[in-house]
Amino acid sequence: MVYENPDGVMVGLEVHVQLNNLNTKMFCGCSTQYHDAEPNTHVCPVCMGLPGALPVINKRAVESAIKIGMALNCEVVEQTQFHRKNYYYPDLPKGFQTTQYDFPIVGNGKVVIEGEDGEHVVRITRAHMEEDPGKLIHMGSIEKSKGTLIDYNRSGMALIEIVSEPDMRSPKEARRYLDKLRNILDYLDVFNGDLEGSMRVDANVSVMGGQRAEVKNISSHKGAERAILYEIMRQKNLLRRGGEVVMETRHFDEARGVTISMRTKEGEHDYRYFPEPDLVPMRVSDWAPAIREELPELPDAKRARLISEYDITEMHAKALTSDIRVADFYEVVAAAIDPRVAGTWVADVLKGELNYRDLSVDSFTTDDIIEIIKLVGEDKVTEQSAVDVIRTILDNGGTPMEVVTEKGLLKVKGDVVTEAVSETIAENEAAVQDYLGGAEKSLNFLVGQVMKKTKGRADARQARELLVEALKD
Ligand SMILES: [Zn+2]
Repeated sequence: MVYENPDGVMVGLEVHVQLNNLNTKMFCGCSTQYHDAEPNTHVCPVCMGLPGALPVINKRAVESAIKIGMALNCEVVEQTQFHRKNYYYPDLPKGFQTTQYDFPIVGNGKVVIEGEDGEHVVRITRAHMEEDPGKLIHMGSIEKSKGTLIDYNRSGMALIEIVSEPDMRSPKEARRYLDKLRNILDYLDVFNGDLEGSMRVDANVSVMGGQRAEVKNISSHKGAERAILYEIMRQKNLLRRGGEVVMETRHFDEARGVTISMRTKEGEHDYRYFPEPDLVPMRVSDWAPAIREELPELPDAKRARLISEYDITEMHAKALTSDIRVADFYEVVAAAIDPRVAGTWVADVLKGELNYRDLSVDSFTTDDIIEIIKLVGEDKVTEQSAVDVIRTILDNGGTPMEVVTEKGLLKVKGDVVTEAVSETIAENEAAVQDYLGGAEKSLNFLVGQVMKKTKGRADARQARELLVEALKD
C-alpha cells in the first residue's frame, strides 16, 4: 500500500528540547533546577543579559548536542560557532538570542517512523544549540491579556532545536515522529521530558496550492497533532473558497483547539545574524569519537535485539522498547522466567494496567511480577486472579502473597470443583434438562454457577469438562 497524500499535506517540525538534566545553564553557572522555584530566583548577570556580562560555554551541553545528533543519524560538523540573532522581545533582555546559524553542530540525519504506509523516513535537516528565553505569563488569554509577567528562571537554559524536512504527510505521522524523538531522547538521558516546557514544537504546515504557515510553541505531542489537523482543515477550506494561504506565524490556542494569526513571517535577513564575538568557534569533530563510544543502545537496536535474544513478538518488543524503563524492567524479569511468558505479562498486562492509571513502571517491582507469574506457572492462581493481584497492588499496595491470602485467590483443588459441580447439577434441574435436551447455552449457565460457588477460583475449562462428564450418565 502506498499512501497517496491526496491534499499534498507537508509538515515539517522544529522541536526545542530543553537540556534540563544538565547542572547549569548554557552560558552561566545558574542551576537548571528552577521548575519548582519562585520566579526570577535562578538568574545572574549573564542570563539576565546585563551589559558587559560574558558568557562561557557549557561543555556538557555541547556533548549532549553531539550525542543527540548521532542518535538521529546526523553528521557532526567539523567546526561550529555561535551567532547572535538580533531581535527584541521582553523575554529576551539582551536584545539578541545566542544561537547557531550557518554552522549548526549536527545535520543531515534521519529518523524512521511508522508512517501511513509502513516504515517512513523523516529527514533531519539540522540540530543546533541555542539558549532558551525567559517565560512570559500572560494574564488571561494571549489575545485579550491586560498585562504580562516575566520569569527569567528559564532564560539561558540550554536548548537543542531539531529541525526536520517537511516529510510528514499527516497529523498522525507528526505525532509518531514526536513520540519517536522523545523515545530516543529518553534513551540518551539528556533531558527529563516530564518537566513542563521540556519539549516545545513549532509546526510548519502546508497543503497543495498554498504557502506554509508556522504554528508556534505547542507544548504537547497531542497538542501538535490537533494543531496540525486544525491547520490543514483551515487551509483547505480557505483555498476551496478561493482564498489564499499566506506565509505567517500562528499561535495554537490549546483550550479552544484553534490556531490564530500572530504576524506575517519575518525573513532571515530581519534578524541580522552575526558571529557571537564573545564565544570562540569550537572544533567539535575532535570530540566525536569519544562521544560515539558512550552512545547507549537506541530504541530500534534494542527492539531488534529483544526479538532475537528472547524470541518475543515484534508487537511485544515495540511495546517494551517504547519506554526504556519498561525495557530494562522486562530484561530483569526475562532473566528469571520464560522470556516469552514474561513478554506477555509485562508488555500486555502490566503495561496496560500502568497506562490505564497513568503510572510509570517504577510503580511496580520486578520481584513482584516474577512472583505473580510464577504463581500462575505453578497453577496456584488463575490468570484472571493474577491480573486482580496486579491491579490490587497498584491501587492499594501490598505483596503478591498478601493480596492472594487476603482475597482468597489460591486456586481451589479438583475435589472442591467436583463438589461444586454436583451441587450445581442438583440445584439447577431445569437448566440440566434443557442441556440434556440439546440447549448448549444452558451449559454456559451451569459453568457460571460453578464459578460462582468457587468464587471464581476454579478453572472454567475444568469446570466445563467436569460438568459435561457428570451429565453424560
Ligand atoms: Zn545565570
